[in-house]
Amino acid sequence: MSIADSHADAGAGAAATQLALWPGRADEAFEPPPAAVLSAAVVRHSRRARRVAVRIDAGGRVELVVPRGVSEARAMSFLVSRADWVAQHLQRRRAAALPEQAFPPTQVELPALQERWRVFLAGGTGRLRLRQREDLLLEVRGSGDRAQWRRLLQRWLVSRASESLAAAVSEVAGRHGFSYGSVSVRRQRTRWGSCSTRGAISLNLCLLFQAPAVLRYLLCHELAHTEHMNHSARFWRRVEQCEPQYRALDAELLRTGWSRVPQWVLERA
Ligand SMILES: [Zn+2]
Repeated sequence: MSIADSHADAGAGAAATQLALWPGRADEAFEPPPAAVLSAAVVRHSRRARRVAVRIDAGGRVELVVPRGVSEARAMSFLVSRADWVAQHLQRRRAAALPEQAFPPTQVELPALQERWRVFLAGGTGRLRLRQREDLLLEVRGSGDRAQWRRLLQRWLVSRASESLAAAVSEVAGRHGFSYGSVSVRRQRTRWGSCSTRGAISLNLCLLFQAPAVLRYLLCHELAHTEHMNHSARFWRRVEQCEPQYRALDAELLRTGWSRVPQWVLERA
């Protein structure tokens, strides 16, 4: 799989000649974790290649092909500008490799919150409805097909994520002296989070399936964007002040983040 395959409109040639540094989109939300994409890539210098290319091989290895006459730094900036594409393809590859999972699940584990919710099938007739009980129990009544079940559980997950992630952002911000605008939660396949110029933080509910430290890091990362709308050295220094292990946690999120998310969470409604 190479970058030219999915960016057919722009064309590999056009993409290679642009070789943009940070794309000029400071006004809109952005994300991809550049540090992790860079650290995962293998750089290959090629005499025959005519343009910079990013490839993902069958084993999920990211390769950056650098043609003669192009500096590694320029090639790297191209890779960084395509971080979204790389993350998306790595995720798809991992999803394809996962075994079939039981559905509906008997429990939903949310490691980031250190919660394990049991799913109790109470039966009955009528459409599916869910009640979240105090004792980490999801009581489901009624009956429905797979799609209805999925929607039910996805809706619950959005509400659990909205409550818990808003509280987590507030806590991390308070501890490290950040101010922000708002927090919203989405179910996304490519991004873990983003921060707008107005300090509106958007978080992927799939963060609930990550380790607590990984969630903490991602929150520090987005909150640091309220002070630095870029991935400059100053930005990363601010992240490091809040989370000294940020490199390892960023790499862990890229490497194993998607594989921790149950299939039903990302299935389309
Ligand atoms: Zn960022």
